Amino acid sequence: MKLLESRVRAEGHALDERVLLVDSFLNHQVDPELMLEIGKEFARLFAEDGITRVVTVESSGIAPATMTALVMSLPLVIMKKYPQRRNQEGLLETEVYSFTKNQPYILTVKREFIRPGDRVLLIDDFLANGEAAFGAIRLIEAAGAAACGVGAVVCKSFQPGKGKLLEKGYRVEALADVAFMQKNTIRFVGETL
Ligand code: 5GP
Repeated sequence: MKLLESRVRAEGHALDERVLLVDSFLNHQVDPELMLEIGKEFARLFAEDGITRVVTVESSGIAPATMTALVMSLPLVIMKKYPQRRNQEGLLETEVYSFTKNQPYILTVKREFIRPGDRVLLIDDFLANGEAAFGAIRLIEAAGAAACGVGAVVCKSFQPGKGKLLEKGYRVEALADVAFMQKNTIRFVGETL
């Protein structure tokens, strides 16, 4: 998505070779118009997949996922993170390793919000090692639903998440696909020097 790539290039800040900050429009301040365009693009990409529910992981996935759900006229479910297991009736839980915090957390969703037979589209802000996406997929599948696709606003393809998801047969769509980055340099997949 060219509009997104140019925003990442203009405003993104590669902290080092693995962490990209896009605080001015996605992770801290949010640009709602850009989020709406992102929502339209995910809705277009998954229009033929019979999606019944959009799911995201708190917190930075919420803005793009809300817009996707709005454009698709579907409910949005936000998976919540806790430091420890809750062991609550009706709550599905799985442990996930956090890319940004370098420690595990417990990802949860109420069983009532993902139904057996649902066809779920998972939207998140970043796809890196795939830990968050695989955690969300474990919960979706534990609820008896199908994970029909993963939509990442930004994917860092030099990290293994995308490859691992594709290898397991999941569909992945990334709106900005970073092939390489270094302090002050970002190169997208398919971009020539
Ligand atoms: P993964 O689980 O795929 O390793 O990482 C995905 C999660 O970590 C995303 O939900 C996102 O919140 C966070 N994340 C991963 N890489 C980055 C990054 O480069 N920048 C920011 N801001 N968040 C990231």
